[in-house]
Amino acid sequence: MNWNWMMQAFGQGATLLAAASVPLAAQGIPQATPVTPVVVSPLSDTSAIAKEAQGWLADLIKINTSNPPGNEQPAAAYLVKVLDKEGVKAEILDLGPGRSAVVARLRSSVLPDPSKALLLVAHMDVVPAEKARWTVDPFAAVIKDGYLYGRGAVDDKGMLAANLAVFIALKRANAHLNRDVIFLATADEEGGGDASIRMLIAKYWDKFAAGFAINEGGNVFVKNGKVQYVGVQASEKVAVNIAVIARGTSGHASQPTKDNPVVHLAAAVAKIGTYSAPVHLTSVVRRYFEGMAALEDDDIGKWIRSMDTPDRGEHAQRVVSDTSPLWNSMLHDTVAPTVLTAGTANNVIPNEARANLNVRLLPGDSINAVLNDLNKLVNDPAVKLEVQPNAGLDAPTSSLESEFYNVISRVASREFGGAPSLPFMSTWLTDSAQLRFHNVQAYGLVPFPLAQEDLKRMHGNDERIPLVAFDKGVDVLTKIVAEFAVARY
Ligand SMILES: [Zn+2]
Repeated sequence: MNWNWMMQAFGQGATLLAAASVPLAAQGIPQATPVTPVVVSPLSDTSAIAKEAQGWLADLIKINTSNPPGNEQPAAAYLVKVLDKEGVKAEILDLGPGRSAVVARLRSSVLPDPSKALLLVAHMDVVPAEKARWTVDPFAAVIKDGYLYGRGAVDDKGMLAANLAVFIALKRANAHLNRDVIFLATADEEGGGDASIRMLIAKYWDKFAAGFAINEGGNVFVKNGKVQYVGVQASEKVAVNIAVIARGTSGHASQPTKDNPVVHLAAAVAKIGTYSAPVHLTSVVRRYFEGMAALEDDDIGKWIRSMDTPDRGEHAQRVVSDTSPLWNSMLHDTVAPTVLTAGTANNVIPNEARANLNVRLLPGDSINAVLNDLNKLVNDPAVKLEVQPNAGLDAPTSSLESEFYNVISRVASREFGGAPSLPFMSTWLTDSAQLRFHNVQAYGLVPFPLAQEDLKRMHGNDERIPLVAFDKGVDVLTKIVAEFAVARY
């Protein structure tokens, strides 16, 4: 029991009680030993609010925000209603028909300092679910064998509900904040379009300007039944698409010619499939692997440690890359052919065939270097490669020395049985890139301890969250936020 919490939880009541008891003592009337009142702060014991948050998560899953079209407005209205019940005035930020975000703020003082403020960020939209491939209705929030099933259970309604729980716990505890805490529910994260955080920042930045943020992007990785490490995301890769366009002469399929663009495209894509960009260890990835070397078995650990050596370095990099697609992508710019388009009829040779390459660049790397390599590899005048517009944002890396990074790392390690916290670069995109671009020290940590088996269901079938992991995540996130934003915690 933390005395400060108890005093804050009692607030004025405790003061009145104390005032009333003074005259009696002053008159020399014997007083019974005061019984310490049992007050449990929602910040020190999160079990009750986590149970409530399970209900919010289930409700949010039932509001279908599959993107496209997103249609986050009903989810936004739901969040406003929940916050309203707590006496928090949340605001809906309009982002177009059916699209909105939600912002709410707990103030630290009358004149808050935006550069100190902390944002709790999560997105309301989800990727679509292929209902036929699920064993349960993806929008029914079914509870089975200790798991809550549903699209968004982890990505990202789980974190949305956890953020809501932390925010409401602060409010109920009447916590004395040393910085503003802002709850932000974003839209169109999965689409990255006109209702996304890019637009939100352009239209409403003043409503949630902050110096720090916690968002999705990193994970608490469970291996063999225990937390192996906590990956705190401080940077992310950058997505760019390249169109591969083969042109030739269209004609009757009964008289094929050598310039059939389908043949040229297929050959080009096959060559691109063999491409491996050179290894580039960013500062975050270097620190990540330094930590991983100690966590993996001797064999893998040995190869990780050899990645930088002049004699065995190249071989070691190959072994480490081949060990996991995640590691491969953390070490290289990657290129994945994703869409092929050609032809309209079985008996007609088309005059054009196209492929899309989804490129994921390491932060700081240039698309032109990849483009040059691919052009050399393809080496076919009938095939052109064109970089597509709407490339991702190459944002600065969040500091690994900031007070918030230290709090997240320290608290998470402590709460997850001493598992190390490692800086993490996600190979996937999050809203944090846009925040980092606006000078926010944004960190990614979905606080639920999850095994690979559950992590891989994000964007897949039968997405689910173990309820025990959800409760633990709510607790850890509460402790992180309290330690960073509450005075005298
Ligand atoms: Zn997400």
